[in-house]
Amino acid sequence: MSPVFAAQQPLSQLAVVAWLSKRACLAYNLVGRKPRSKEASVATPASPECVSCRRPLPPGLFCPYCGVFVLDPQGTVVMASRLSRLGAAIVNLLLQWLTLYIGWVIWWFIVAPRGQNPGKAVVGLRVIKTDGRAAKTGDMFVRGLVGIVLGLIPFYLDDIWLLWDKDAQTLHDKVVGTVVVKAQGSERIVAEGSLGAPPAGVTLPPAFAPPVTLPGAATSTPPPSPAPEAPTGDQPGEALKRLKDLREQDLITEEEYQEKRKAILDQL
Ligand SMILES: [Zn+2]
Repeated sequence: MSPVFAAQQPLSQLAVVAWLSKRACLAYNLVGRKPRSKEASVATPASPECVSCRRPLPPGLFCPYCGVFVLDPQGTVVMASRLSRLGAAIVNLLLQWLTLYIGWVIWWFIVAPRGQNPGKAVVGLRVIKTDGRAAKTGDMFVRGLVGIVLGLIPFYLDDIWLLWDKDAQTLHDKVVGTVVVKAQGSERIVAEGSLGAPPAGVTLPPAFAPPVTLPGAATSTPPPSPAPEAPTGDQPGEALKRLKDLREQDLITEEEYQEKRKAILDQL
């Protein structure tokens, strides 16, 4: 082997390692991916955008840039990280072993209505349907059962599928139509059963702060605020004067003025 070749070889190996680690980081979403400008300019007019980061959404169940579930109009439902999925699996195994399955099963029935199993409950994850509806006990049971069956495939292929799947779905997730999200931010799916009208439809307006309710809310708030200032003071004369001031500044209505005036006079 020539000395030149010997010196070059470690360098080429380094390059390969660097390339591989960058690929791995991309696969695990450890480094941010910038939207390709070409893709963005082509996609903008027709395709919907992420309600959270406002980038155009490629096909998929989650925004590839910020992880928001695309059907969530509020942008609080976020994909569970792959590392947390591994954590939940380890916690499940530990709990099953420690409680001889008995405690684990009891715990399972407590948390399954919320789309969880004990491991997911501890780590803070939740299973939801791919259409944004809640996964209930029956769905969790079927998902677990399919997971056991597909677990027969060698090399844990069913589970490790989530490592390269863009929506971090296992094979049993795909079969039963579920995804795993963070428990925090997805509570209302359990409470309401679904996410309501999705933003993912191309022309649907963003779900933030519907402007129609704002004026109503604004007009309904002022009346309570002057109320604490309303004069119920010790000196009736002073109280009447302050009440009159409030009336002149339009802080209370004529009706309120008359009512409060009567109350003060009654006290005399
Ligand atoms: Zn986003």
